[in-house]
Amino acid sequence: MAAIAAAILPGLKQGDRVVAGHDLYGKTAALLRGPLAALGVQTQFLDLTDDAAAEQALREPAAVVVVESIANPRLRVPDIARLAVLAHGAGGRLVVDNTFATPYHCRPLALGADVVVHSGTKYFGGHSDVTIGALVADAAFVGLARATLSTFGASASPFDCWLTARGIKTLALRMERASANAQRVAEFLLKQPEVLRVEYPGLAGHEHHARAAAQFERGFGAMVTFELRGGEAAASRFVRGLQRIRFAPSLADVSTTLSHPAKTSHRGYSAAQREALGISGGLIRLSVGIEHEADITADLCTGLARASAAS
Ligand SMILES: *Cc1c(COP(=O)(O)O)cnc(C)c1O
Repeated sequence: MAAIAAAILPGLKQGDRVVAGHDLYGKTAALLRGPLAALGVQTQFLDLTDDAAAEQALREPAAVVVVESIANPRLRVPDIARLAVLAHGAGGRLVVDNTFATPYHCRPLALGADVVVHSGTKYFGGHSDVTIGALVADAAFVGLARATLSTFGASASPFDCWLTARGIKTLALRMERASANAQRVAEFLLKQPEVLRVEYPGLAGHEHHARAAAQFERGFGAMVTFELRGGEAAASRFVRGLQRIRFAPSLADVSTTLSHPAKTSHRGYSAAQREALGISGGLIRLSVGIEHEADITADLCTGLARASAAS
């Protein structure tokens, strides 16, 4: 969140306008809705994967446009090159949170974005043992971000920096394995009768598959979302029935973990907002790890058998 604040704050002043994806990470939305709104910076939230809506919103000036290259939990994908052109036309900068895709799959600066941020707590560290962020931009913007961070005192500890530098050495290897596993897990889930739908950008049926294939390299990331038949009750039986895959508030560990967005990351939303975002009680978001693929699918089978069993 320090990196995100340092990407958004520089240069913003009272009366400026921000345009943001409606499915941003909760605290990013909270930063825009809370402190920034109180200081006189208004944010328009909308579906930035909708090209026509994005174009309409960016006909008026905007100082900052904020989007995620793969958004949680529906794994929807915006057209970064297009948004960069629109943001620049509106006189602003495009900030891309690239946490889920990582630089292994997506390089937003090469697509025209101005600032890229990562929660290094996730894939850069890769072992769920650090809290850190990263910001990538040209030297002039990095100078502004640095000044912002030192003024607000948001800095990572030396030990977390060291763990992250070590984690990054295996980023490509971990991503290669995890996203290959995720592709197979998504295809496996697609065939299970207990599963209503699977959302993974690597599946031909995903609404943004073509866009993701054009914009990403070497695969589609390691997050896989699916909806169980039987809603929240089935999701609860599924989670309790798993033997290896753990329920975790974070993601991107070397081990496969899962989250139940309706009850965790998106519990603060109203039922109507969750419905608008397509987040039902039966929705599960897997963060696929680097284990042997058969160990992941075997555990999913155990959970699915429980999910469909009468309680
Ligand atoms: C976790 C996460 C964040 C926040 O990162 P912290 O390291 O917890 O501050 C921001 N954006 C995305 C997409 C995330 O998944």
